[in-house]
Amino acid sequence: MSDEISESSVEDLSNRALNSFENAKNLEELETVRVAFLGRKGEVTQILRSIASLPQEIRPRIGKRINDLKIELSALYEKKAEELQSEREGEGGFLLDPTLPGRSGFEGGLHVLHLVLKEIKEIFYGMGYSLAEGPDVELDYYNFEALNFPPDHPSRDLQDTFYLTKDILLRTQTSPVQVRYMEKHKPPLRIIAPGRVYRNETPDPSHSAEFLQMEGLYVDKNVSLADLRSDVSHFVKSYFGDDASVRFRPHYFPFTEPSAEVDMTCFACKGKGCSICQKTGWIEIMGAGMVHPSVFKYAGYDPDEYTGFAFGMGIDRIAMLKYGIDDIRRFLTNDIRFLRQFWGFSS
Ligand SMILES: [Zn+2]
Repeated sequence: MSDEISESSVEDLSNRALNSFENAKNLEELETVRVAFLGRKGEVTQILRSIASLPQEIRPRIGKRINDLKIELSALYEKKAEELQSEREGEGGFLLDPTLPGRSGFEGGLHVLHLVLKEIKEIFYGMGYSLAEGPDVELDYYNFEALNFPPDHPSRDLQDTFYLTKDILLRTQTSPVQVRYMEKHKPPLRIIAPGRVYRNETPDPSHSAEFLQMEGLYVDKNVSLADLRSDVSHFVKSYFGDDASVRFRPHYFPFTEPSAEVDMTCFACKGKGCSICQKTGWIEIMGAGMVHPSVFKYAGYDPDEYTGFAFGMGIDRIAMLKYGIDDIRRFLTNDIRFLRQFWGFSS
């Protein structure tokens, strides 16, 4: 090949190459041109490789000429590629080929917790409750103080609460929404307040560092424990079935007096006693009670004029009971095989 190389053949190559790059009409043509001249076996590359074997008298001039040509062609290629690319994007994008079949659809669904919460909310809306919300990042005042938690109450401990500063924390319960709502509204009021809550707990099958809770609050003149029992009972029958009944066990919460833990008939054994209910026939589903007069005072209500009840339930726990889920951590691991079991359960 070396004997065919002359200054005029290089000039000829230069003209052909520059023309070809200049006239490429699209990116595919440009690539073909690039391979033909600058590719591993391209004409320019071949000559560059054979320079060493050229006669001494023409080697320096041909060498410089062909090196300059390579630089010139490379720059022209870059410029041309950019032009053709933006031209193509202007026409609707590099990857768009309307003749290709579409991607097969992946239909999603509601997360089981939101499904459960949605159904629960519907039941309470039907009883005249409306929705209230509050912040996840909460003041100690609303999370504890205004809910009548004594300063030395164990749940204020760092062991249980994620404190951001001395006075700001991640809410450990949805109850602070009660106080925030009462500060801004006069009775009668009847609200539910669902939301995420946070506890400094080591996760295990029945504990999670974050979970969903839903608070309920009803305040008016002459609200009684019988009203609480009636609403809770209606909810349990609506959600778990007519044969589910409730019982109240005396308990202690700082913000209600009297307070109770609420059990419902075990859905698995219908009250006969089984391993799920630890042979008692009952399953705990929420805490409840009559709003403590001190909480009314913090909210600016006169406890002699108004009474009310409050309840709080763990949505994760309700979902676990409803669907027989054995590990609370499954709600947060985003395992699509777990989540898709519940899709289509709701309209
Ligand atoms: Zn049972």
